[in-house]
Amino acid sequence: MSQLDLEQLREKVDAVNLQILSLINERATVIQEIGKIKEKQGVNRYDPLRERHMLNLLKDHNSGPLDQKTVDHIFKEIFKSALDMQEEDQRKALLVSRKKKSEDTIITINGERIGEGTPSFIFGPCAVESQEQVTKVAEAIGGKGLRLIRGGAYKPRTSPYDFQGLGLEGLKMLKAAAEQYNLAVVSEIVTPSHLEDALPYLDVVQVGARNMQNFELLKAVGQINKPVLLKRGMAATIDEFINAAEYIIASGNDQIILCERGIRTYEKATRNTLDISAVPILKQETHLPVFVDVTHSTGRRDLLLPAAKAAIAIGADGVMAEVHPDPAVALSDAAQQMNLQQFDEYYDSLMKFMKQYELKM
Ligand code: PEP
Ligand code: MN
Repeated sequence: MSQLDLEQLREKVDAVNLQILSLINERATVIQEIGKIKEKQGVNRYDPLRERHMLNLLKDHNSGPLDQKTVDHIFKEIFKSALDMQEEDQRKALLVSRKKKSEDTIITINGERIGEGTPSFIFGPCAVESQEQVTKVAEAIGGKGLRLIRGGAYKPRTSPYDFQGLGLEGLKMLKAAAEQYNLAVVSEIVTPSHLEDALPYLDVVQVGARNMQNFELLKAVGQINKPVLLKRGMAATIDEFINAAEYIIASGNDQIILCERGIRTYEKATRNTLDISAVPILKQETHLPVFVDVTHSTGRRDLLLPAAKAAIAIGADGVMAEVHPDPAVALSDAAQQMNLQQFDEYYDSLMKFMKQYELKM
């Protein structure tokens, strides 16, 4: 074979490659059209029967020299690439995504505008334990001119024998304390069946890490007209977290605050591993405000301040931390709650840090 023949054959291969490229892109465009129709019809994009039919058709027409296994393999990859492309389109179309809505969602609670560029704070005890306890914390929070208080009344505990929270009575105590100091109440609900009774005492409904994929709860809080603070599951990917928020918005409620609270890794030095990079990723991918819970992520009192600084510096819309008048005797999370004096110092240090680096306050 002469050099000329080889050159000609190579040119032919190049031309065939370009034809294949043009054809697989034409195919992808048709598949996109089909995807749109299927979306309207609400049917699943992947159809195994249809795929089997296409492979059989190719088999009937394959006259070689490629063997059928190779043809199947090549076409399965082509089929898969079209499905992957549609999944990407679908992801872009999520209601919580920046692609769908480019402006930041701002949630106004009790005069506090969350997500507008200045950090907000949610402080309060892990659990509501008594009227006196929550009133003391509310006084400390109100004294700083802050607008939100947290406190768990329905506590999702690892052991069924641990303190489970005071339930509705606890919420009533928290609400009473909050009203005295003009604070809005943030508290967790663990089942849709508690929602109706609890709602009058709540300003923000928290969905905890253990319930991030409790889809019935997500749908239920999607139907209320109060903001929802959705915490990341301890073993949830960012994608799963975003999809959990999508459940809420898809049910009609777009007032969602995302809260990074650490994920479980092999690291034992902290209670969970604070995934700080999740904050800018969530800010880029979604239009929702993003909080960082420094208490449950670190599980260490000595890390509450550096973790909060990191959260604010990286662009979080707010910080959550636990405060208790006497953490040593707290019925839950005794090791990491701040007492009132530590809380004062903590808040002062954080304000100084923000001033020092000219961060918006
Ligand atoms: C809480 O905030 O009270 C709590 C239980 O946190 P998490 O769901 O993140 O564990
Ligand atoms: Mn706690």
